[in-house]
Amino acid sequence: MGDSFLDESIRYLKGVGEAREKLLAKLGIKTLRDLVGYFPRAYEDRTQIKQTNALTIGETVCVRAMAVTAPQLSHIRKGLDIVKFRAVDEVGTLELTFFNQPFIKDTIKPGETYVFYGKVDGTLTRPAMVNPLFERESISDGLIDDFAESFSDNFVNEDSNSLNKNTSLTVSVTGRIMPLYSLTAGLSQKMVLNAVRSGLNKCGDDLPDILPESIVRQYELCRARYAYENIHFPEDVRALEIARKRLIFEELFVLITAMKLLKEHRGERAGRHIDPPDWNEFYKALPFKPTKAQKRAVDEAAESMGAHRAMNRLVQGDVGSGKTLVAAACCFMVWRSGCQSAFMAPTEILARQHYMTMTELLDPMGMRVGLLTGSMSVKQKKQAYDRLILGETDLIIGTHALLSEGVKFRELALVITDEQHRFGVNQRSMLTEKGSSPHVLVMSATPIPRTLALIIHGDLDVSIIDEMPPGRQSIETYVVSERHRDRVNAFIRKLVDEGRQVYIICPMIEEHSEDEINGLSLQDFKSRTITNQTGLSSAVDYHKNLQSKVFQDFCVELVHGKMPAKKKEAAMKAFASGEADILVATTVVEVGVDVPNAALMIVENADRFGLSQLHQLRGRVGRGEHESFCVLFRGAAGETSKERLEILRTTNDGFKIAEEDLKLRGPGDFFGSRQHGLPEMKIANLASDMVVLSIAQKAAEENLRNDPQLESPENRKLSEQIKQMFEVGLSGGRFS
Ligand code: ADP
Ligand code: MG
Repeated sequence: MGDSFLDESIRYLKGVGEAREKLLAKLGIKTLRDLVGYFPRAYEDRTQIKQTNALTIGETVCVRAMAVTAPQLSHIRKGLDIVKFRAVDEVGTLELTFFNQPFIKDTIKPGETYVFYGKVDGTLTRPAMVNPLFERESISDGLIDDFAESFSDNFVNEDSNSLNKNTSLTVSVTGRIMPLYSLTAGLSQKMVLNAVRSGLNKCGDDLPDILPESIVRQYELCRARYAYENIHFPEDVRALEIARKRLIFEELFVLITAMKLLKEHRGERAGRHIDPPDWNEFYKALPFKPTKAQKRAVDEAAESMGAHRAMNRLVQGDVGSGKTLVAAACCFMVWRSGCQSAFMAPTEILARQHYMTMTELLDPMGMRVGLLTGSMSVKQKKQAYDRLILGETDLIIGTHALLSEGVKFRELALVITDEQHRFGVNQRSMLTEKGSSPHVLVMSATPIPRTLALIIHGDLDVSIIDEMPPGRQSIETYVVSERHRDRVNAFIRKLVDEGRQVYIICPMIEEHSEDEINGLSLQDFKSRTITNQTGLSSAVDYHKNLQSKVFQDFCVELVHGKMPAKKKEAAMKAFASGEADILVATTVVEVGVDVPNAALMIVENADRFGLSQLHQLRGRVGRGEHESFCVLFRGAAGETSKERLEILRTTNDGFKIAEEDLKLRGPGDFFGSRQHGLPEMKIANLASDMVVLSIAQKAAEENLRNDPQLESPENRKLSEQIKQMFEVGLSGGRFS
């Protein structure tokens, strides 16, 4: 049976029509496939039926009771009608009141039994409900088969004769688990619910099972038809669980299969063969002994670059684990075989820092390292361009400026990007296009749990640096509030007197920078109001206050993203050289910057940062021989924020912190919106569905092992779905 009917418009479905078609389109629902795949965002459990003597005032429940008095309609005044009656069950009574629904008078029949769903009101001895939902209970088989309330207005069972019982067009509103959908203005729950019901009926038994039969059997999953029916209209809690499990599995299985195919496809990209250099020469010139993990990552990269196909490798390591060394080693290798490398960093400060580090490491070996940033003069840029095209620069380090049209290479063989999740996939590919199929190395300090890394970076090979260089200090962390201000200031003074340096991070630059306001969530909004009261939100003001009032005798520098590059550089230089005692900064120092004498990191309004981000900030200190500290000021965001920050106090493990962060914030926030290049998950949660994730992964691998190109008939639907999903990606556009 074909399933092209799934791509039909929903307009002609019963209960949809032209107007609702437009509204549903706003929710992204255009075809039948979209409609049945529009999963509820939550459920309301209306299965619990309570007796009238067991009710609690304020709870929302179902009560099954028989109407015993005839409904009385009173016109109180214009625009206010009330219908009242009483119902009884075996143990007591329930008073019922309906406002402005005069038709109830004729709907309710004394002697009939109804299920009422609503909030319990009145008193414990005389419980009541106001405007409950209700439906008549059929006497014959105890099933609810009819419903009243305005619910039935435009959606009566026109041809219920042609349908079997459980696909009746009416949807019970009590005594069951009710789906709750995300809505848009003009659409009610009822409308979406009815459209979905109608859509499921239309599909009947023809809902295609994308999963191969053998997988469904082996993992004891339910059928697609059962899953779709019960995700929308669960028979009971257990059925909902079974449906959810199947759909989450399916979503992850499809995604993993797609990513694996993609990776294989990319593996075919031919690349320049780079001969391994004399590594002794490189390692001997280093100021320190590389860690085992660093060496392993270098070896892995060297092997990929020597394999006649283009490398696509992610080096992932906690902040301070020494990723720069791996990058340097790769540049060295490429240089030894007569080619050029490009290294792109997300910020100017970081690019400059890398430029200094790389120059220090590689210049003594004879490599010519260049810099290119947006703030350089036209003349300087021109010079940099010329050297590149002539092959007089072996390694160019820069910001997005590297993407400019004028940048051309003589022989680009390696592209490195730092802090990968800050660059869009497109930007990365703009740089690779400047060479002929160069090797690609991306570095990320965001430690992603391993299972997840495989999915997120399915198109990359992953090297993990899981070992810190020796002699790292553990950093004592404190979570404090405003009343500790004086003590913290005294602590700053003590450390500076001992010759140490201090970072202070503020979340914002100015009171109302536009970016900040645009991205403001309610949570942000709340803490912002409060921070503005204490005047701490502005790094600029903060710095002024600190220098002129609190620490007049110290040198306090300021650096933020909106400063001219020259000033930024001067401030960073002053801090790096030890001339400045305190550096007030926005998150521009988050990544990369290295000042071993800094022993204290203070973060204002810490609850405005993600945990991983705070962990990265903390990694700025404890890089030298000095005992180091991190103080997190929490704003007024309350107890949850305190708990959240406590995680940082109790662990130093970047992976653990990332996992917590993921749980708390969800993957969307965590990876930056859509930058990871993955389709949005409809039902699976990459953070909390870890168990299903690893099972789905196993299943996907098994399936691909048996049928690497998905050519067998049982994989046909899967293959079609994946082609559709990654149309662009598989043909090389999106992911290359
Ligand atoms: P990451 O980029 O992973 O956060 P860096 O590459 O900036 O870390 O390295 C952090 C610091 O550790 C730098 O000061 C670097 O010189 C130093 N470092 C790197 N590798 C080693 C090592 N094997 N032994 C000692 N120090 C190291
Ligand atoms: Mg780094």
